Amino acid sequence: MAGLGCARQLHNLFKQHGDLLAKLGLEEPNVIVLEGRSRIGGRVYSRSLQVQPRHRHPEFHQSRCIAEMGGMVVTGFDRGNPMNVLIRGQLGLGYHALLSTATIYDIDGNPVDAKRDRMVEDLFNECLDRVSKYKFKVPLPKIIEGNRDYIDQRRDLPSEGHQTIASVEENAAAQKQHARRFDDVEAVERQISEQSQFAPATPNLVRERETTCEGREMPAIKRFSQAHQPPNKPATMTAALKLKTLGWKLKPGVGEEQDIDLDPAASVPGTTLGSVVEDAIRQFGDLVDLSAQDFRLLNWHIANLEYSNAVNHDRLSLFGWDIDAGNEWEGKHSMIIGGYQSVPRGLMLCPTPLHVRKQMVVKKVSYGGPDGASLPGICKAHKSPVVIEFEDGSTFDADYVVNTIPLGVLKHGDVEFDPPLPQWKLGPITRLGYGVLNKIILTYRQPFWDTNRDIFGVLREPDNRFSLDQEQYAKHRGRMFQWFNVTKTTGVPCLIALMAGDAALDAEKDSNDKLIAEATSVLQSVFGAQNVPEPIEAVVTRWASDRFSRGSYSSAGPAMQLDDYDAMARPVGRHLHFAGEHTIGTHPATVHGAYLSGLRAASEIFEELVGPIKVPVPLFTPKRSVMRTTKRKLTLDEERATASNGSSGSNNANSGGNTPNDARASVRRRPEVPELRVEEHTLKQPAGRRQQPPRLDDSPYELFSEANYQRASKICEQSRRPGKGPPTPEEVRAVTSKMWRKASIEERLPYAEEASERSDKYEALVQKLLREA
Ligand SMILES: Cc1cc2nc3c(=O)[nH]c(=O)nc-3n(C[C@H](O)[C@H](O)[C@H](O)COP(=O)(O)OP(=O)(O)OC[C@H]3O[C@@H](n4cnc5c(N)ncnc54)[C@H](O)[C@@H]3O)c2cc1C
Repeated sequence: MAGLGCARQLHNLFKQHGDLLAKLGLEEPNVIVLEGRSRIGGRVYSRSLQVQPRHRHPEFHQSRCIAEMGGMVVTGFDRGNPMNVLIRGQLGLGYHALLSTATIYDIDGNPVDAKRDRMVEDLFNECLDRVSKYKFKVPLPKIIEGNRDYIDQRRDLPSEGHQTIASVEENAAAQKQHARRFDDVEAVERQISEQSQFAPATPNLVRERETTCEGREMPAIKRFSQAHQPPNKPATMTAALKLKTLGWKLKPGVGEEQDIDLDPAASVPGTTLGSVVEDAIRQFGDLVDLSAQDFRLLNWHIANLEYSNAVNHDRLSLFGWDIDAGNEWEGKHSMIIGGYQSVPRGLMLCPTPLHVRKQMVVKKVSYGGPDGASLPGICKAHKSPVVIEFEDGSTFDADYVVNTIPLGVLKHGDVEFDPPLPQWKLGPITRLGYGVLNKIILTYRQPFWDTNRDIFGVLREPDNRFSLDQEQYAKHRGRMFQWFNVTKTTGVPCLIALMAGDAALDAEKDSNDKLIAEATSVLQSVFGAQNVPEPIEAVVTRWASDRFSRGSYSSAGPAMQLDDYDAMARPVGRHLHFAGEHTIGTHPATVHGAYLSGLRAASEIFEELVGPIKVPVPLFTPKRSVMRTTKRKLTLDEERATASNGSSGSNNANSGGNTPNDARASVRRRPEVPELRVEEHTLKQPAGRRQQPPRLDDSPYELFSEANYQRASKICEQSRRPGKGPPTPEEVRAVTSKMWRKASIEERLPYAEEASERSDKYEALVQKLLREA
C-alpha cells in the first residue's frame, strides 16, 4: 500500500510539475515499484476463493468471490481519511457500512446479559482510565483548538497559540524523562510455513436459524477493531465509589473511600500495559466479587485490545500503547465489496498503469552511507547512489529508494543494508513491537447466522472453566473471540473468525483440521449443533510465517520511545527513504497510515529533486479577491459559452440560457477535465461504481433562499450606490436571510414541506444504496 501510494503520488507530481523539472534540466524520472511477491497489495490481500458459486448473488457484481486475508476494515470515511478520496472519490468502489450492534455469546451459547455485559465493560474501561495516567506526555501542538467561527471564515485570530506554549514546554520535559527510562531490548520471531487453504470434501446444507437477541453496541472502535476509546481523564473518585456508581456491589467491609494503587506495578522495571491492567483487575477484585463469567467478559475486552495491537497486552508499552489516540476517523466502519485489494490495484492501474515489477525479492540495499558518500563493495561498479541486489543475483540502480519493507522483515534481518543502518534507525526497529493477528475464513452454502448482523463476539474459557485466576485466561481469550459476517463483501455466505494475542501465534502451529474443527464447535455452541455444517471451503492465514511480512502490523513494544515511529520515518542520508505502516506514529498498523506514509515519502523525494513545493501564501485567498476571481471565472465562462454556442451556430448568447446565473451554475457543476477522465476511467473498472445519491437534503431556508435569489438581488441593487457594481452573493444572501427571518409561518410552510419530502427521498435512496451494498 505504502509503495504503490508513494509511486502513484510521485508519478503525478512529476507529471504535474514537468515545467519545474525542465527548468532544472531534469528529465521526468522513472518511478518503478519492485515487489517481492507475485502479487501486489502486500498485507491487503483479497484472495480468490476456489469454490466460486455457480449462481452468484444478484447484488454481488464482482467477477470473483474472495477471502479477505489481511486489511479489511475502512475505519470511517469522515474527518479526513484519505481512503475516502481513493475509495469513494476516485475509484468509486462499492462498500458495505458495518452495523455497530452485535451480540456477545457466552460459552453456553446464550447471549450475555446486557446489564452484566455493560458493568464489566465499564470496569474494564475504568482499568484503562487508571493506567492512562502513565501515558507518554505527547507534546501538544502550539495551537490546540482554534476558534471554529474564525476557521470557517478562513480568518486568523490575532493572538492564537500563546496560551499553550507553557504546557508544550512542560510536556517536552516529561517526555525526556520517559525516554531515559529504557534501554533497547526486544527480539521475537516466529517459524515459517505457508498461508494455507482447506476444503473438506463433503458439503452440507443447513436450515437458517433466527437469532432473536437484541444485540449491543460494540465498544468504541479504535483502529479497525473495537477497542477501548482512550479516555485521557484522570480518576476523580476512589475506585470503590466508582465501582458503586457503575452498579457494582462492594464486598462486605469495603468502604467507599477504598482506592486502588497502581504506582508500584507501574514503576517495576520492564512494566507493561498488561502487567498494570492485570494488577488493576486484581485490586478491583478485592473490592467487588468477580465471577468466572466476569473474567470471561473482561478477557474478551482484553482480546479486543490485543486485536488492535496484534500482540498480547503484556508486550505493549504502558506509556505508548495508544500513541495514535485521538487521530481516529469518523463515520461508519466499512468493508469493500469484492475486496480491499481493489484499492492497491486501483493505485497501480488508474488512471494509467504504473511500472511494477513483481517477484523481485530484495536481498541487499547499498545506499552509499548516510552522507551519500561513495558506495562500498559491489556498488563501486555502479554510478548511481543506490543499488539494489535481488535474490536471483540481478541488480537495479536507482537515484532514490523508498523502502516499504515491513517492520517484521526488517527485524528478521532478511534485507542487508550497506553500510549497515545507523543506530538511531536500528533502535526503533528493535524497540517497536510487531505482532500477529490471524484469521480463519469459512464459507458455506447457506448462512445459518443472522445475516443482518455484521459482527458477533464469543466468550472463551480457560482450561479450568471456573477459574478466578486472571493469568489462566491469556492463552485462549483471543481464539475465535470475534466473528465477522462478510457475506455481503465476499460474495458467498462467509464468516471470518479472528485469532488475536497468544492465540494468533498458536494458530500458526495448529493444523488446519484442528482449527476448523474448533471453529465449527464454537459456532455449534452458538447456533446449535444441528444447524452448523462443515464449511465448503476454509482458509487459514499465517502472517507470522509469511516471509514477506513476518507478522501482521506494528505496535508499541514495551521499550518503545516516544519518537520511535518518527525515527522510522526519517530518511538515512539523501537517497534512502522509508515508508509503511510502521513509519507513521499518528496512524500506525493501518492501511490508511501506510498510504499516508507513502505520500509523505513521495514529497520528501520530490523536494530533494526540485526543492520545496510552493504553498500559496496566504493559503486561502482573501474574501475580496475570491470574489474577483470568481467573477473573472464567470466572465471567462460566459465568453467561452458564448463563443462555443456561436461557433456551433445552434444558439446565441441571449437565447441559449447563457445568463450569468447559468454560467455560475456551470462553473460550480462542471468537473475539471482530469476529474472527468478519472471518472470515465473508473466507471469502466471491473470493481463497479456505486453512484452517490444526488443531494436532496436542503434545509427549508436553502430552498427559500434559492427561490428568492433574484428578488433579493434586485433589492440589493436598488439600495446600492450608483457605480458600485452588482451585489456580491454574500450581500444577496444577507438579504435572503433577512427575508427568511421576517417570513410568516404560512410563507415558510411550502419550503418546510418540500425540504421534508426531499429529505425522505434522500433517506430512501441512501437506504436503497446501503441495501444494494
Ligand atoms: C490480518 C490483518 C488484518 C488487518 N486488518 C486491517 C484492517 O482491518 N484495517 C486496516 O486499516 N489495516 C489492517 N491491517 C493492517 C494493514 O493491512 C497494514 O498496516 C498495511 O497494509 C501495511 O501496508 P504497507 O505498505 O506498510 O506494507 P505491505 O502492504 O506489507 O507492503 C510491503 C510490501 O513489501 C514487500 N516485500 C517484503 N519483503 C520484500 C523483499 N525482501 N523484497 C521485495 N519486496 C518485499 C511485500 O511483499 C509487500 O508487498 C491488517 C493487517 C493484517 C495482517
